[in-house]
Amino acid sequence: MEALSKEDHFIHQCVCGRDHVIPIRLIEIDENMLNALSRYLKSEQMSRILIIADENANKALGQEVFEQLERVGLSPHAYVFPGSVRLLPDEQAIDKVKELIRTYNVEVVLAVGGGVINDIVRYTTFLERIRYISIPTAPSGDAFTSNVAPLLLNGLKITKQAQTPEAIFTKPSVLCAAPWVLIQSGFGDLIAKITALSDWKLSCFLYGEYFCNKAYQLVRDSLIEVIQHVEELLKREAHAVKMLFAGLVQSGVAIAMADSPRPASGSEHHCSHLWDFFASRHLREYAPHGIQVGYAAHWMMEFYSNLDSLKGVIEPQNYGITKDWQREMQLFYGTSANEIIDAQMQKQEWMEARRGCWKTNHPTLEQLLQLLKPEMELFAQVKQALTTMGIPWEIGYIGVDEAMLRDTFVHAKELRSRYTILDFLQGQGELQRFIDDVLQKAREAPHI
Ligand SMILES: [Zn+2]
Ligand SMILES: [Zn+2]
Repeated sequence: MEALSKEDHFIHQCVCGRDHVIPIRLIEIDENMLNALSRYLKSEQMSRILIIADENANKALGQEVFEQLERVGLSPHAYVFPGSVRLLPDEQAIDKVKELIRTYNVEVVLAVGGGVINDIVRYTTFLERIRYISIPTAPSGDAFTSNVAPLLLNGLKITKQAQTPEAIFTKPSVLCAAPWVLIQSGFGDLIAKITALSDWKLSCFLYGEYFCNKAYQLVRDSLIEVIQHVEELLKREAHAVKMLFAGLVQSGVAIAMADSPRPASGSEHHCSHLWDFFASRHLREYAPHGIQVGYAAHWMMEFYSNLDSLKGVIEPQNYGITKDWQREMQLFYGTSANEIIDAQMQKQEWMEARRGCWKTNHPTLEQLLQLLKPEMELFAQVKQALTTMGIPWEIGYIGVDEAMLRDTFVHAKELRSRYTILDFLQGQGELQRFIDDVLQKAREAPHI
């Protein structure tokens, strides 16, 4: 897989008709990344440098980064969050980084570590309007390239605008040594994009949503490559772990190209968000994000595979936002209900505004199945790869029992305004039957 070079970060007149600006200028996943990093900092004439790490990441890579920059005369400042307290992306951590930035009047912050360290630095450098370079120590997900940060403010989970790192440097040997659950999670997050891509195509086909074939291919190629190397990944072979990480970065690039999470997040992510909601209500334990979306992708692939049981495709009725439905939302979501109702109103308006697509195109089931064939042909391989990596298709896995699965398939589509297979089935009046079919299949064949 090609790393993105400095010159690639602007795509003029893409196949989709748009110009794309990709904010990540350099991606270096190499054992010699320390030299590349110091060269980059020097070429950019950056001198007031701050390294932020947690204790584990500092041992894994942070200390080496510090010594390298000292050696080449860049005299960085460094701060290591103590390992004795669990690091959270909260006010305390943000204020600490802010204080260090101001005290040393730094130009650039290097975040060495996993998701939390990067969330804190991505947000703080955005607020302070300074530069940010990411040095990940685990291939745990695709959030390293994100331009938002999930934070914990006043004890509440909240996503804030932040900035994408301008460059990413890491060593395959460090990624390989990460805890297994983080590698599993990164794998789940990448492989689950099979249903995100299917949802994107579905929405483009039925409602004419914007679609970029280049962004689509970037994600699709990355996930196929990783599936083909799953046995090596299981053995933590360096080239396979590097491939996984590169794939996760490419999916971030695709998000930047589409200017939307569309290429990387669909119904499987919506299921995972709902499971987080259940966990926040103490109905189950949280599991790592990528493991949740990988597990959810098993289910969403089953929904797609069942499409050939439809007799045809009918133009859907209005989405049905009624007073009764709003009351039901208030009962189910409590204090989060307004956000959910807003998202659904937005989706309904969006669908209504594009109803003309149905009238002009008269989509048929045959066309739909043909369109989704490139994804559906990969399902068996994807499911096998997930199982190989320890993410099985099994009722009850990660604390999601059958009753919770039923709730998930009914409610997951309510969490975001983006159209997915679950909205499609609702519109066809077939969602309940599909839920019954898929659960029955899972009961009969609990292990693939
Ligand atoms: Zn494009
Ligand atoms: Zn994800």
